[in-house]
Amino acid sequence: MLGKGRLEREKQTVQKMIKIYCDHHHGQSYESSPKEPLCKQCQELYGYAMERLSRCTFGADKPTCGNCTVHCYKRNRREEIIAVMRYAGPRMIRHHPVLAIQHLIDGRKK
Ligand SMILES: [Zn+2]
Repeated sequence: MLGKGRLEREKQTVQKMIKIYCDHHHGQSYESSPKEPLCKQCQELYGYAMERLSRCTFGADKPTCGNCTVHCYKRNRREEIIAVMRYAGPRMIRHHPVLAIQHLIDGRKK
């Protein structure tokens, strides 16, 4: 059973992606301040993403949000998170290779 670990991992991945995006678009570089909190806008997006993940109808068997068939995000939130994932996805390989690869594997599950 992958169960809880799976969801926790996705939460971690989303958090790190938003962090990379925020640093590069709204703040300092990731390398110089890995502990800086997110800006207000990204903090809200993060909170929203966590809430959606917790309520996801697929539970532990869910695909990653990028491959999900149920578009549970509100339209504007969805556009925000897609922008974040598009930007941070490739950069995850460099910053967090283990999480990034695991995310890709999870994304392939049906
Ligand atoms: Zn931000």
